[in-house]
Amino acid sequence: MIEQPDWLRLQKALTIEAEQGFTDLMGRQYRFSEFLCLTFGKLPASLSSDRDDIPQQSHRDRWQQLAQEFANYPNLDMEARQSLIAQTRRYIYQLQQLEAGGEGERGGERGNNISNPTIKTPQSTIQNPKSPIVSEVSKLLAPGIDQKLSEVAEIGPRRADKLARLGLYTVRDLLFYYPRDHIDYAKQVQISELQAGETVTIVATVKSISCFTSPKNQKLTILEMQLRDNSGRIKFSRFYAGARYASRGWQESVKRLYPVGTMLAACGLVKESKYGKTLDNPELEVLAQPGDAIESLTIGRVVPVYALTEGVVANLVREAVAAAMPATHHLKDPLPSGLRQKYNLMELKDAIANIHFPPDSDSLQASRRRLVFDEFFYLQLGLLQRQQRAKQVQTQAIFAPSGELIEEFYKILPFELTGAQQRVVNDILDDLQKNVPMNRLIQGDVGSGKTVVAVIAIVAAIQSGYQAALMAPTEVLAEQHYRKLVSWFNLLHLPVELLTGSTRVVKRRQIHAQLETGELPVLVGTHALIQDPVNFNRLGLVVIDEQHRFGVEQRAKLQQKGEQPHVLTMTATPIPRTLALTIHGDLDVSQIDELPPGRQAIQTTALMASQRSDAYDLMRREIAQGRQIYVVLPLVEESEKLDLRSAVEEHQKLQDAIFPEFQVGLLHGRMSSADKDRAITKFRDKETQILVSTTVVEVGVDVPNATVMMIEHAERFGLSQLHQLRGRVGRGAAKSYCLLMSSSKSPDAQQRLKVLEQSQDGFFVSEMDMRFRGPGEVLGKRQSGVADFTLASLVEDEEILILARQAAEKVIEIDVNLDRLYLMKQELKLRYERLMGGAILT
Ligand code: ADP
Ligand code: MG
Repeated sequence: MIEQPDWLRLQKALTIEAEQGFTDLMGRQYRFSEFLCLTFGKLPASLSSDRDDIPQQSHRDRWQQLAQEFANYPNLDMEARQSLIAQTRRYIYQLQQLEAGGEGERGGERGNNISNPTIKTPQSTIQNPKSPIVSEVSKLLAPGIDQKLSEVAEIGPRRADKLARLGLYTVRDLLFYYPRDHIDYAKQVQISELQAGETVTIVATVKSISCFTSPKNQKLTILEMQLRDNSGRIKFSRFYAGARYASRGWQESVKRLYPVGTMLAACGLVKESKYGKTLDNPELEVLAQPGDAIESLTIGRVVPVYALTEGVVANLVREAVAAAMPATHHLKDPLPSGLRQKYNLMELKDAIANIHFPPDSDSLQASRRRLVFDEFFYLQLGLLQRQQRAKQVQTQAIFAPSGELIEEFYKILPFELTGAQQRVVNDILDDLQKNVPMNRLIQGDVGSGKTVVAVIAIVAAIQSGYQAALMAPTEVLAEQHYRKLVSWFNLLHLPVELLTGSTRVVKRRQIHAQLETGELPVLVGTHALIQDPVNFNRLGLVVIDEQHRFGVEQRAKLQQKGEQPHVLTMTATPIPRTLALTIHGDLDVSQIDELPPGRQAIQTTALMASQRSDAYDLMRREIAQGRQIYVVLPLVEESEKLDLRSAVEEHQKLQDAIFPEFQVGLLHGRMSSADKDRAITKFRDKETQILVSTTVVEVGVDVPNATVMMIEHAERFGLSQLHQLRGRVGRGAAKSYCLLMSSSKSPDAQQRLKVLEQSQDGFFVSEMDMRFRGPGEVLGKRQSGVADFTLASLVEDEEILILARQAAEKVIEIDVNLDRLYLMKQELKLRYERLMGGAILT
């Protein structure tokens, strides 16, 4: 895998996996465990070469063993994962040391035994010799930023070894290891004095503890504790969401952290509950054993709480950070002072000092603001740099923005474009006249009319003598685009073909031949477009619908079928602005923020099981008026089979028991494409009045006569997905309904469904979705690549993100390569990779 061992990358992969809670992170191409397994599958040349000072046989064994252990990683429980990673980190760290030693002048002093290397390093040198004020004693004694932790006097090799388990090797690592939270011991109160609404700290003893999987939700783990001080008792719970906490091993390990009798500090918001006062998901910290005096670093002040790992206790990190703190004197701020002033940002060294040990909550806020700004800023800087560099590429495909064909097309269109559509068409036509390949994303809510906008771009391509390809994620959708294009292009006498997995061989060959000669100007299709040995004669435009359903790889492959073709991508999943800037920050984005006229609001109602007969009455009335209905069942993640059964069973029930007088169709992912086609065609042709389906209908299916969307177990879907499903109705002029059936009485579920009752704005819905479920979930599983921020929140920090984007735009405008901003350039290099999270696994 790795020719030259890339220790840094390996360490980073290990660090990120640990930071993410040992979830076997998914990278672009590999899972974490696969990446590690592949890496250890091949011993790097430097370790296998004959060097008498290294016992290479043991390396070979060790690498083989690690490869096997990582192959088995997915089967390990949390503790075993943690320990394997800790052990691997130490080993890699040693190898790294060894390599570094092998190249430098210290080569001769290398130890023989790899598992216990003696590492000598030069004395720390005092940095920043140019500045005259540096001669202050404190600065003279301060450790250097890049100094190894083992060399910092107050830390030393033994503690440095422990800190290495957290991925912390240098002073810089430690300074930038921001605390997860703070506990304010100044707000310490007695249990009997608790007042609802206040954030407080109590110091008390564990009276009882239990940790278990929620009986109602397998993915939720609950830790329940009772604490006591001499004034009273309090009970509280902490919640851990995610399958990884469900293991007994993990639950037991939590209980071991807080055995009965332990003295704890618990800090959090006081709430009134059914059982009296409680703390809301508090931060916990184990203090000394009962009877001992409480540590002075913690009492009476705001203390940082760090993410810890096996064998590394809170005070170890705190003391190490305190020891590293004087090094902030050497920290140069990569942001020029003018920029800091403009955006009202604290200086970096103060921000770092305050984020760890804030004197008060105002300075904590100010330092957080600065550091959040940095997280956003460097990501935007990287994205904008990439965007600018992409624009340095040239394309031959320069299109004429107007001409007979486009005129003709406007004439045959049965409607006028909306203002928003026209605006986006203009954006696109502008792009197409440049000799720089277009890279534009159209974002528009379901039904906003993205297809016609893309078709205008296709017509412009044809008119200019180029071919165009339109790729969709499913056969159903590709087929639908194809039909629409045929209906329009027939009138213009332009041939169009469809290529999918089920296209017959003879047809396939014919299509290939016509593409190569250039006879065929437009091809619509699925992944088959990139899988087949398809050669275009002169591909000038690539359109990708529902782009988030394709990987970067697949998009690139289609692009490679032409020479720097223009690329237009579309998405009907509106996402919050913050998320859009984070993941599409390097694209030009156009919004279609207006629906075609005449659309009526879709009346959305959340119904409980007891109201089911009302729902069926409504459905009957609609069918009596010639309308049609979708009934959608959730995708049960754990078991596709279960999923299938629920759709099949529901179909049976509706057909036999509830609506025997109507025809009920069935559509699910396990059907052959021919059967799927048949089901959709029958529905489209009104042979079936009701279509029972899994979420396959989510994407793009367009049957304007359907007026009711009934969604079973609506509480199991994300809001954005529900919104997508709802978009299947309300496509004609008739009034439409969306019925959200749920059996959950939980206030959270009800509140979420309320959002849909109240709003039909996809952006608002996705914003709320992000608030409820977090940014990673809004896009669903298929898209990873949401940057991995330490402090920044896409929900809370929109204002800072916008400023950071502005600042980055200014900088890139003036100096794309950051040649005159050397410190910033360095910092960007350091941070960008890290921010992109799992992306580095590939
Ligand atoms: P989406 O943006 O969800 O892909 P479509 O492109 O499928 O939406 O368009 C939805 C429907 O609206 C289609 O039937 C389309 O023909 C129609 N449509 C698009 N633009 C207009 C318009 N300006 N006026 C009226 N109907 C339109
Ligand atoms: Mg569409």
